[in-house]
Amino acid sequence: MPTPSPAPVRKRRLHPRNMKYFGEPLHRLIRGRLWLQVIIGMVLGVGAGVLLSPDTGLVGENLATALGEWLALPGHLFLAFIQMIVVPLILASIIRGIAAATDVQQLKSTGVWVGVYFLATTIVAVVIGIGLGLTLQPGRFIDAESVTRAAGGQSAEAVRAATEQAAQAQGEITLADIPGELVGVLPINPMSAIAEGQMLQIVIFAMVLGVGLLSLKPSSAKPLLELMGSVQSVCMAIVGAVMTMAPLAVFGLLAQAVIRTGPNVLGGLGVYAGAVVLGMGVLLLVYMAIARVLAGIGPARFLSAIREPFLLGFSTNSSAATMPITIRAAEEKLRVRPSLSQFIIPLGATVNMGGTALYQGLAAVFMAQMFDIDLPLPALAALVATALGASIGTPAVPGVGIVVLASVLSSAGIPLSGLALIVGVDRVLERFRTSLNVTGDLVACKVMDRFMPATISKTEELREERKAAREQDRQSTDVVVARSA
Ligand code: ASP
Repeated sequence: MPTPSPAPVRKRRLHPRNMKYFGEPLHRLIRGRLWLQVIIGMVLGVGAGVLLSPDTGLVGENLATALGEWLALPGHLFLAFIQMIVVPLILASIIRGIAAATDVQQLKSTGVWVGVYFLATTIVAVVIGIGLGLTLQPGRFIDAESVTRAAGGQSAEAVRAATEQAAQAQGEITLADIPGELVGVLPINPMSAIAEGQMLQIVIFAMVLGVGLLSLKPSSAKPLLELMGSVQSVCMAIVGAVMTMAPLAVFGLLAQAVIRTGPNVLGGLGVYAGAVVLGMGVLLLVYMAIARVLAGIGPARFLSAIREPFLLGFSTNSSAATMPITIRAAEEKLRVRPSLSQFIIPLGATVNMGGTALYQGLAAVFMAQMFDIDLPLPALAALVATALGASIGTPAVPGVGIVVLASVLSSAGIPLSGLALIVGVDRVLERFRTSLNVTGDLVACKVMDRFMPATISKTEELREERKAAREQDRQSTDVVVARSA
């Protein structure tokens, strides 16, 4: 008689505290309608910029520049604070997100499918961006004078020739360079990756640590997990405090941008901005179609479930800062398993940026049109690949997407001077793409929740998670009581 196989032994799970419990300060901001305050800040900022612009003639050029710098000060402080906390926040969130997995096997299969899903949807997003750029031709609406002004007085032809020369001098990446480039993605020295803010390397380092933790006994994993938990909560406390500055920050940054570019340029950029917003609308439709077909949830229900992270992404300009609310929406509104949402959201916030990829593709086509540069099919295919890579590497913080765009432009041989022209509208467009980036992560969660087999039932997972959170609360109260005794 065959001996019955022994019942599978379930390993004790680590249960790091779910990040959704750290989102209270952000919740207060949503209840206080932060998004509305941000929109008011945007409108007032453009108004102040138009009034103070040297073109309007109310103030002289020097005074206007000085006023612009002072108005933008809160904005620069805001950006610096968010950038300051994003590396520890992402590191801690990914490590703990992976440690929340039910087991290594589940993590492996989810990891592979999530990776494939992220790549496929991001490629679709870049293609939409490039397609819209080629159809609507927003670059043709910018007059030669604005192009020359952005290029610091040089004509479009002179800038084009200089860029071609620089590209030739730099040489091309050959097939033999690729293995070295691939190894270069691994953070051989994690501390220098952290010091330099190399997001992709940081993500890889965090994933390696997270997987390593899963193989430890819970008692050995606990100290590191608790430390990372404290890092997360202090980061979120800082984000919550800094976010109250968001309306003032957007007011000052926009005012300065309009003072710099002059109100007239804004008209020409209208078609470009309109094309980006239209692209975001198309991407939203694609996401809704995916949610409907692959996850069986209709657009109305989906959009109402994700309303809060969508608006918070718009207000904060940062997918990373929005994470606790995104996780909460995934679990409480979309009923996604905590082990999946805690893994997919922190990872997606850093590497899955459909909105950013779409914008990078479209912006590159726009700039090429401005400088009259042809983009034949091979160049467009290369653009898809670079925009894909760049969107993965873009940190989930405000104000950096446009910096990463510079690397896309230079690898496509497009002059960088056009960036000066779009930096003003970018402050607004970034809000749309951040909301779309957050939406993309939530759709991914819902789809994976439908397809990834669960080791334990969702109800059981939720029950275990709540029990672990209560336990941790009790332990920390015990510590406080013991200390004060
Ligand atoms: N700020 C965006 C985000 O956090 C990224 C970007 O700039 O495109 O998702």
